[in-house]
Parts: sequence; structure tokens; C-alpha cells
Amino acid sequence: MTQRLTYLRESLKDLDAIVISQPENRRYLSGFTGSAGFLLISKDHALLATDFRYYTQVKQEARNFDLAEVGYEFTKHLPDLLAQMGAQRVGFEAHHLTFTELESWKQTAPNVEWIPTTSRVEDLRTVKSVSEIETLKHAVHITDRAFAQATDGLRPGTTEKDLVWAFKTALHTIDGRVPAFDIIVAAGLAGAKPHAKPSDTPIPEGVPIVIDMGALIDGYHADMTRTLVLGQPDDKFRELYQLVLNANQAALDGIRPGMTDVEADALSRSVIEEAGYGDFFGHGLGHGVGLAIHEAPKLATTSPGTPLKIGMAITIEPGIYLPDWGGIRIEDLIIVREAGVEVLTQTPKDLEAQIIPV
Ligand code: ZN
Ligand code: ZN
Repeated sequence: MTQRLTYLRESLKDLDAIVISQPENRRYLSGFTGSAGFLLISKDHALLATDFRYYTQVKQEARNFDLAEVGYEFTKHLPDLLAQMGAQRVGFEAHHLTFTELESWKQTAPNVEWIPTTSRVEDLRTVKSVSEIETLKHAVHITDRAFAQATDGLRPGTTEKDLVWAFKTALHTIDGRVPAFDIIVAAGLAGAKPHAKPSDTPIPEGVPIVIDMGALIDGYHADMTRTLVLGQPDDKFRELYQLVLNANQAALDGIRPGMTDVEADALSRSVIEEAGYGDFFGHGLGHGVGLAIHEAPKLATTSPGTPLKIGMAITIEPGIYLPDWGGIRIEDLIIVREAGVEVLTQTPKDLEAQIIPV
């Protein structure tokens, strides 16, 4: 935590202080896991202002921060807190703070110059520490085990919602965990919608079943997709599954630190485009994961062209979605390493392993 504060302070430059209110950023910098509070950080001060519910918790979790007991009246105390810090030019998180909150801060602290900032903490969060990577590995390991346990019960008559419940049960029984996000189980035509909602209909035989799930461990999110088939798939499944797998493997083989987010996306996209399915891969190749399920960087054609760095945790999830047939997506979680990538996800992804005998 100390190092994270040091890096943020180095990025303050022309600012006297910054107010952090975005929940994952607040947790990342302070260690505080509560649901409400503001960090006020200058070169010499680090305050955590929150309400009565969290006074004890802040002292336990956020040891590098001084607690400011502001009750539910942060805005009222804001001018005093900033005056104590000698802060005149103060940054706020433009992506997160609401217009209404900013207006109320301007009213109560009219002498402060409020400066919008973007991505100061989000950029720091993209490169994971050794301990963050250990937590992600734990989350991925539990995800792999829960996937094996839950899909073991998949048979004719199982519904999408049954399978979602089987994943939740497995996460709970294996390690007392909960899902990192709303689990997706989408069979047949539903799988053509990348973020489909599970239904009560029994999963038919022979159609692709897109399953996207992950465990949440100590605030860190695992994220994995596999596409299974109950019984024998048709030739189209075999052809398209192999194509998506090749696209996934092209990215795993090709990604290097220093390559841009756009170049990484192109590694998989070019494989799918060359086979004539480019129009059916309508989302980015992947995204950063950590304290949020979707965080920087984003690998997509529309990304800014930022180079990938050693220590980034990213998903690789090419997919093909045909509205009159269904979808196939294969998603792994990786760490960018000096010589390439380390693939954390261990659930098998060869074609034969996706076929569940009936
Ligand atoms: Zn996913
Ligand atoms: Zn994902």
C-alpha cells in the first residue's frame, strides 16, 4: 500500500491534493474494504474520511491513512480538511464523481480550484503486484475446480439456471466463495448474445453452451469462458470451435510486453477475419481484471494504442456469434510476462474436452 501511495503522489505534479472516491481505487490505495468513504491525499497527508459504521474498520485496514470522522457530512467538513492539508488546487475523479457532488463541493469550498483527473489510479492498477497475482491465481484455481465440479452434473434435462446454481454451489462448497459476476450459461441461440441471461429451458443436445463464470477472492475477480456441448455436436460446431481456439492460441502465442492493446486484439481478430467471420466477432479481445471485473487495459480495435506492460492481468476471449445458430467463446486469464504470457486458466479447452457424453 505504501508503494501505491508513493506512485500516486509522484503523479500529482501540479496538484496540491487529490480526492479519491471510486470504490476500487479507494480500496487499492488504502486497503479499506468498506462501501463508503473519501481519500484525501497530498504529498504529506493521507486522510480517509468516512462515517460512523467504519471508524473501527478504517483503523484496522487502512494503516497508512489518518481517519477523519466526518459522519454523513463529508461535504461540510471538506473545506476544513483541505485547509489542514494546505491544498488549493485539488483533483477529483472526473469519470466517477457526479455532477451534483462536484457542484456541492464547489459551493462549500469556493476557494478551492477543482481539477478534473482521469485514470490516475486506474493506470497504477493495471500492473499487478506479486501478491495481487497470487490472489488472482487463487481465484482462477477455484474457478477451474468449480467449473469441473458443476459441469460434471450436466446431463439432458439440466436447465441454464440449474447450471448457474451448480456453479454457485461449487464455489461455496470448495472454498466458501461467491461468483465474481453474474454467471452466464447460454445454450443454442441464446449464446449468440454475448451477455445472455440464463433461462428455465432444458439445455438441448448438440448445441453450443457458452459458460462464462469466475470466483471472487479477497476483492479479485477470476473470469473464464468455455463452450461445451451436451452430446455430439454438428460439423459447424467442430469447425467454428477450432477456429475460435486457433484465434485464442494466436493471442497467447503472440502477446509480448510493449505490443499495443490494438496489436494484441489483432492477433486473434486476424485469424477470425481470414476465415470470413470477422463481422461475427463484435467485441474486443479482452480486458484487464483485478479489483474490478472489467478494468484497464482494454484490447480492442478502438483502444488507444497503449503498450502492454509486464505484470498486467488480462483476459483473452475471442468469440463468434451467429444470430441463427449460437455462439462460441473461449476465455482465459493471463499475466503479461517478460517473454510472453503466463496462462493462469487451466480448464481444458481442446475440442474433445468440450463434448459432454450423454
Ligand atoms: Zn468472462
Ligand atoms: Zn471477460
